[in-house]
Amino acid sequence: MKTRLMAAAAPLVLGAALLGGFSVTALAKTAPKTASAAPAYTGPFAKPSTLPLHAPDFTQYKDSDWQPAIEAGIAAKRAEIKAIAANKAKPTFENTIVAMERTGSLYDRAYNVFSQLTSANTNDTLDAIDTAVSPQVSALNDDIYLDDALFARVKAVHDSAAGKALTGEDAMLLATTYDKFVHRGALLSAAQKVELKAMNLEIAKLETAFAQKLTTATAAKAPIFDTAAQLDGLSQTEIAAAAKLAADKGHAGKFMLALDNTTQQAALTSLKNRDSRTKLWDASVNRTSGGDQYDTTGMITQIATLRAKKAKLLGAPDFATYQMYDRMVKTPAKAMEFMKGFVPALRATQDREAGLLEAAAKAEGQNIKLEPWDWSYYAEKVRKAKYDLDENQIKPYFEVWRTLEDGVFYAANKTYGLTFKRRTDLPVYHPTMRAYDVIDADGKQLAIFYFDPFARSNKRGGAWMNNFVEQSYLLGEKPVVSNTLNIAPPAEGQPALVSFDNVETMFHEFGHALHGFFASQKYPSLSGTNTARDFVEFPSQFNENFATIPEVLNNYAKHYQTGATIPAELIAKIKAAETFNQGLGLGETLSAAMVDIQWHQLSPEEAAQPPMAFEAKALAATGLNTDMIPPRYKTPYFRHIWDNGYAAGYYSYIWTEMLAHDGWDWVEKHGGMTRANGDHIRKTFLGQGHTKDFAELYRDFTGHDPEVQPMLEARGLAPKAK
Ligand SMILES: [Zn+2]
Repeated sequence: MKTRLMAAAAPLVLGAALLGGFSVTALAKTAPKTASAAPAYTGPFAKPSTLPLHAPDFTQYKDSDWQPAIEAGIAAKRAEIKAIAANKAKPTFENTIVAMERTGSLYDRAYNVFSQLTSANTNDTLDAIDTAVSPQVSALNDDIYLDDALFARVKAVHDSAAGKALTGEDAMLLATTYDKFVHRGALLSAAQKVELKAMNLEIAKLETAFAQKLTTATAAKAPIFDTAAQLDGLSQTEIAAAAKLAADKGHAGKFMLALDNTTQQAALTSLKNRDSRTKLWDASVNRTSGGDQYDTTGMITQIATLRAKKAKLLGAPDFATYQMYDRMVKTPAKAMEFMKGFVPALRATQDREAGLLEAAAKAEGQNIKLEPWDWSYYAEKVRKAKYDLDENQIKPYFEVWRTLEDGVFYAANKTYGLTFKRRTDLPVYHPTMRAYDVIDADGKQLAIFYFDPFARSNKRGGAWMNNFVEQSYLLGEKPVVSNTLNIAPPAEGQPALVSFDNVETMFHEFGHALHGFFASQKYPSLSGTNTARDFVEFPSQFNENFATIPEVLNNYAKHYQTGATIPAELIAKIKAAETFNQGLGLGETLSAAMVDIQWHQLSPEEAAQPPMAFEAKALAATGLNTDMIPPRYKTPYFRHIWDNGYAAGYYSYIWTEMLAHDGWDWVEKHGGMTRANGDHIRKTFLGQGHTKDFAELYRDFTGHDPEVQPMLEARGLAPKAK
């Protein structure tokens, strides 16, 4: 099982979140009458594509098409919403709540394709359009959620006897729509709304300023070394890159190491010179807290204080509680309690691993007291000695298309009965992509799937899933889904070989795709992957488990030259190596998550204290060895929580991993990869979208609330029971 947490960090459904979870797709069958008031738009998105399942017709789009299409889409949606708000008829579930689900078809058609192109195949024109339309999208959101007339109708339906009598998906749609309005301030008085808008504006400005300062600081604080000898241990290529970076920055003849975003720096695993490791470490942890023009701590105090005030204005005890209103974990106390469950085993592992590393240092004659900047260096030595794992031994067994078709697809066939048919006639936006029809067990077409595996200079990093078209019975749509990765492209005429890490990422992203394929909802905003941050990474991490089932491996992990199946001992080595260095791997993530949740439980007065003093207190409260293993991001450079929408949500990475391990434990105890289990998984959660509370979906699947033990075992933090 995987040990990666951050592979899950990529945004999952591009674009969908921007419009606040209203209709994310296509074709309104009954456009409100006043939609004709919007400017007449006649471009390629005026009607649904004529391709199967309304798949995007990439042969039809020019760069100059996007801005007019998206702006017309925003205008049309605004007009559609206005018409609902101005309706003279008595508010009903149909004419208000369901009507909102039908809005935005033009916008969704254009934006769902555009967002994938700006991420996976962009250019300067598309980037400029993105910058131009983003503020218009946020303005539309404010206009919808703070529209008094519209909310009066939503509230009337919500409070009515008819509203209270709704059941199933209808009841869920009404509840989530109402909650979203309230969350965004619809119940506030006019004066409070003015205050809220001003606060939102101030917070958004500070978040953007923080993000920009952090980017500048991370580049500016790259440490300088006088001689190549100080970088001993790095490869010739890495040293050449350091020389070039120094020259580019006006320090010709010297060497600069660019800083990674995280506290830990990749070069720490190989830098032999201890002073150089110390220097790199200091540059990393102090990048934005040095009291100079790159210091972010003042902004952080302001953001934390404003967030605490905003929560108060909206009637929540603190910002974490406010943020968690629609999550699977409902309160910060519950998140803390969950995380504390890991501490005893993790602390013991940290102390045991520190001992191992100190012994490794002694063995090479270094009689040192281990320091944080030594950890990765000696961990790498121990890893090599203990596990003897060489990536170049592994890669020849994993060719990308064989891994997809004979591994990822094979597991979905054995489990869910799906079959996949290559479509060479469907247009793609890049020639290295492939498209497939996804056929259900009953022989009917379920979805279309695109796979875009290779890194390009115009593709952003990471891996993600995207819906071009989202499933909805209301709108008569079936899912059109893509997975995008960043696998190094093969040299001309060579096969594309994939690291095992990327093999797991392929299974991971396909788990999101399955969540999209099996969507079986009436309403687009409850469909498929439109779930909470602390649930959505569960299906994807769960699907990673299929990568190492022996039956699946035997079908896809074959040497590209000899056709020989990967030796079992190689797989055993990969798995054994994954449980090593968890004191750091899980430790740095857990402490970052605990700092995040503590930051967002402060009152406005408490939030005004100096950030570094507060962080020290919060770290002490974790019970972990945070002197040796600090958080993955320290407060002054924790982009996820100060700019990236993960405020009071960083625990989600650990929570969904726990669900994935515990869920897999259920599968193993019930016969493994069988069609019966596949049907059960699909029926209980993978096909359910957000039609029930997430905790209920989970109980439907396993029959109990999630448990931590299987994750502790998989991470090597507890011995295997049984
Ligand atoms: Zn993911």
